Amino acid sequence: MKSKITNCYIHIPFCNTICSYCDFCKLYYVDKYIDKYLDKLEEEINSIYQGEVLETIYIGGGTPSSLNIKQLERLFNILEVFKRSKDIEFTIESNFENITKEKLLLYKKYGINRLSFGLESISKKNLEFLNRNISKEKINDTISICRELGFNNINVDLMYALPVETIEDVKDDLNYIFSLDIEHISTYSLIIEDHTILKINNIKNISEDLDYEMYKLICKEMLNHNYEHYEISNFSKPGYYSKHNLCYWNNDNYYGFGLGASSYLGNRRITNTRSLNKYLDGKYILEDIELSDKEVIEYKIMLNLRKAEGISLDEIDLDVDDLIKEGLLIRYNNHLRIPEDKWYISNEIIIRVLEDYNG
Ligand code: SF4
Repeated sequence: MKSKITNCYIHIPFCNTICSYCDFCKLYYVDKYIDKYLDKLEEEINSIYQGEVLETIYIGGGTPSSLNIKQLERLFNILEVFKRSKDIEFTIESNFENITKEKLLLYKKYGINRLSFGLESISKKNLEFLNRNISKEKINDTISICRELGFNNINVDLMYALPVETIEDVKDDLNYIFSLDIEHISTYSLIIEDHTILKINNIKNISEDLDYEMYKLICKEMLNHNYEHYEISNFSKPGYYSKHNLCYWNNDNYYGFGLGASSYLGNRRITNTRSLNKYLDGKYILEDIELSDKEVIEYKIMLNLRKAEGISLDEIDLDVDDLIKEGLLIRYNNHLRIPEDKWYISNEIIIRVLEDYNG
């Protein structure tokens, strides 16, 4: 069950400040480590990449835009090794706090054609809670500079379900984001994970009922503003689905390079170390697991059912008549999908599909 590798993720773990909710693989930006990190990243890429033509490259973090111009230029030069399809989607994540026109010009020069910004919220109360420092002025200025420079595919991340947040706050955030007229919006319900500042401070998640109210509001407003709801938490204007993220939900193969990055190559799921010391020592890999054919199908079910398109039944035989009768799945064109009004309980539905698959 091997598929061609056409996607690549690059992880830049450095951040200027640490957000209270963050459990990603991240480190404080320390200038002296960056060149060493980039040296190792280059070594890792050159030892693994097999010369395939890539359709997506995604630079995530951490905060890639925490790097200075010289460091970013070095990063882009390292990535020049990748062969690229003509219509490649080349994304970089940035934070409004440290993006500059100079960096955006550099992105343009090296072929970045999709920008993803962590916006999260515009409410002062929420931003304080998240330990973020963004102003409307900075966001508005940045988005207009992006447009001036010709970037026409922009994502922002929106976070909701904060313990300090009301439904009105979610409405305000949405209205502000709609005013930016951007192409893609990824939403995240705040989950308080272990080892985060929020968890240490004993902050609790909001009730499921309120979380559901917020999710429903978001879905409704997105539809009213002509955003397509193409994956449980992702919305885009027509034609602007994230090709890179779709590779995950389609269960396609991808390279992942950098600290804590994951790859999916053939039937192998490989996870890199989160230890900077080990990574700088060239001991990149933490775990390398070969999946059985059955496990590959299970991943496919779990991931494909997150999409509005659902899962194709061409290769998989699923006996899910009960779930269809209960209105939890829809069969169409030899596909199965979860109806949009049931996406909120998709985890439960997916578990039942897996139970059926395992007989
Ligand atoms: S949420 Fe993003 S910017 Fe904030 S600490 Fe985590 S990786 Fe860094």
